[in-house]
Amino acid sequence: MKILVTGGLGFIGSHTVVELQHQGFEVVVIDNLSNSSEDVLDGISAITGKEPIFENLDLRDKKKLNGFFEKYPDIRGVIHFAASKAVGESVEEPLLYYENNLGVLTYLLQELKQKGNGNFIFSSSCTVYGQADSMPITEAAPVKPAESPYGNTKQVGEEIIRDTCNVNPELKAIALRYFNPIGAHPSAKIGELPLGVPQNLVPYITQTAIGIREKLAVFGDDYPTPDGTCIRDYIHVVDVAKAHVIALQRLLEGNNATNYEVFNLGTGTGSSVLEVIKSFEKVSGKKLNYNIAPRREGDVIQAYADTKKANTVLGWKAESSLDEAMKSAWEWEQKVRS
Ligand code: UDP
Repeated sequence: MKILVTGGLGFIGSHTVVELQHQGFEVVVIDNLSNSSEDVLDGISAITGKEPIFENLDLRDKKKLNGFFEKYPDIRGVIHFAASKAVGESVEEPLLYYENNLGVLTYLLQELKQKGNGNFIFSSSCTVYGQADSMPITEAAPVKPAESPYGNTKQVGEEIIRDTCNVNPELKAIALRYFNPIGAHPSAKIGELPLGVPQNLVPYITQTAIGIREKLAVFGDDYPTPDGTCIRDYIHVVDVAKAHVIALQRLLEGNNATNYEVFNLGTGTGSSVLEVIKSFEKVSGKKLNYNIAPRREGDVIQAYADTKKANTVLGWKAESSLDEAMKSAWEWEQKVRS
């Protein structure tokens, strides 16, 4: 059975391709290499023994996308990762973000609607909750006004899918709201490859430890948390990838309760920035150079998932610890720079 993975050479996409192949799916990847490299195909095939079919295509090209679905009429499911994801850039270039993340989404849904069947998995984010009023965050927590055009594309993206599913019963979709995916495949053959200066904590830590960055700035230590630094729910990317396969199987087997569902993907445990640093130092045996810096604009104080719905309804649970995730991130960083 063929499954389309858009953005399948990116960080979460590539790990999902691996898990799909482990489960026997035939994978077709669409990626425009805007934030990834064709070398990732080698990493995937080194792990699974099989290279996915690859189409270098920009999803904004509606004609080509239509041609793609004509070429592969036997696609039974779509996992849609392809999107722009830099929060700061989205503030500078809102139209680019709305076109890439929302225009493209409407094109994909139009194709699936035309096909008359569609099993669609969407990359959403816990940013839709903003600063939630209580922890842990359940899927019933209200969606708060987005802090950036990027965040808004996740909220509006979910609404576009929900509204489309509402009137097209042949379309089935699941939105997965990720908390903070980190780490790399334990083989160190695929992992995160941020372009330029990393915006996210864990790649910044590993790049500092390997000597590419001088020092990590910890953004604020005066938050109302036990050690004063922000709290997030860091989840191993392989756990996130496995959740996509389970969600897809749920749709393919018709086990979904409604034709649009939403699940949190987190571990359920919150960790502070200082705890993440400690974990890194423990698993790497290296002292990290860091200092306390002013707060970063737009950061919420804390966000961690209530995972009950994913655990019970989806039948998925995060398996890896923070230490395991940090260890894999560090092994990947060393491999990439060697
Ligand atoms: N953070 C930090 N220094 C950095 C990058 C991130 O202290 O160089 C903190 C950030 O303030 C937040 C946490 O690490 O509390 C996670 O940030 P990240 O950007 O990785 O994910 P976010 O939760 O913001 O999506």
